[in-house]
Amino acid sequence: VTVRLGNAGSRILVFVRLRPLSKKEKEGGSRSCVRIVNQKEVYLTEFANENDYLRLKRLRGRHFTFDAAFPDSSSQLEVYSTSTSELVEAVLQGRNGSVFCYGATGAGKTFTMLGTVENPGVMVLAIKDLFSKVRKRSIDGNHVVHLSYLEVYNETVRDLLSPGRPLILREDKQGIVAAGLTQYRAYSTDEVMMLLQQGNRNRTTEPTRANETSSRSHAILQVMVEYRVKDECNNIVSIVGKLSLIDLAGSERAHATDQRTLRSLEGANINRSLLALSSCINALVEGKKHVPYRNSKLTQLLKDSLGGPCNTVMIANISPCNLSFGETQNTLHWADRAKEI
Ligand code: ADP
Ligand code: MG
Repeated sequence: VTVRLGNAGSRILVFVRLRPLSKKEKEGGSRSCVRIVNQKEVYLTEFANENDYLRLKRLRGRHFTFDAAFPDSSSQLEVYSTSTSELVEAVLQGRNGSVFCYGATGAGKTFTMLGTVENPGVMVLAIKDLFSKVRKRSIDGNHVVHLSYLEVYNETVRDLLSPGRPLILREDKQGIVAAGLTQYRAYSTDEVMMLLQQGNRNRTTEPTRANETSSRSHAILQVMVEYRVKDECNNIVSIVGKLSLIDLAGSERAHATDQRTLRSLEGANINRSLLALSSCINALVEGKKHVPYRNSKLTQLLKDSLGGPCNTVMIANISPCNLSFGETQNTLHWADRAKEI
């Protein structure tokens, strides 16, 4: 599939990516309740357990269409090429863009964004592509690439490249910046993969009451590209573009009702960030004058990558497992709404 980005900006492209059933799910007798057809249609089927739990009865189905839908056989490169490669091109031309992975814990967000060393995801492939494009273009000018990798956890901002005290957000001429955030000057892809894997291990994860590891943190990789070139009068002109790649916290928090004490505060804050993101996107695409960026740390940080002349891509990650039917349905509804605006 070829999906073209709009020129003016505020069109949001919405993609869905289905992960494979895991070995454990298969062994447990689960089956897939999602089918992808024609590279853009998603069919969701609800099954009811009959007396024998291995015999599932089809209850009802639902059908959605997106800009593209990636079946469980899709490669990391296919996902990258369709969803993000055009944004990398735009960033080299001095524009901003952002790619979000949305979905429940375990649906494949981190696999899609970061991936593994053997199977690198969108973050790494974007940087690889960027460096190869920069090498082709650098004859007449000078490109500088900087990376920062940060997390928003419980409305607190932390540097994932140099963990320490929380960072304070400040408004300056450039917009909202996290004071003291590491701006890592990157020269090649090789060093970046390790850097990001290490950064990811610094993310805050905590056992939930279900005794699983669940990520309540939003991870944001920002890639800044500055292109310096001399104009006719020999003045140095610099063109700056920024790409933000965001691995959002698990969206199940946004629906959960059973939250207590600290957990409830954290849940509420993640809820707040995800809701703030949704309402900003709504306001932007509806052309509203007031966009409520201030409502959360996440939206403050992404202010210059969500509005104005930039492109936004959403990748909704879903699990095929019939036991995750509810979460998958919630995610598809959310993505469907984002598509319509
Ligand atoms: P999330 O970040 O949304 O919580 P993960 O990315 O950690 O989910 O994925 C959960 C598990 O499923 C991991 O073990 C991951 O390696 C695996 N997984 C996710 N997506 C895929 C995929 N497209 N292909 C193969 N394995 C995947
Ligand atoms: Mg994750």
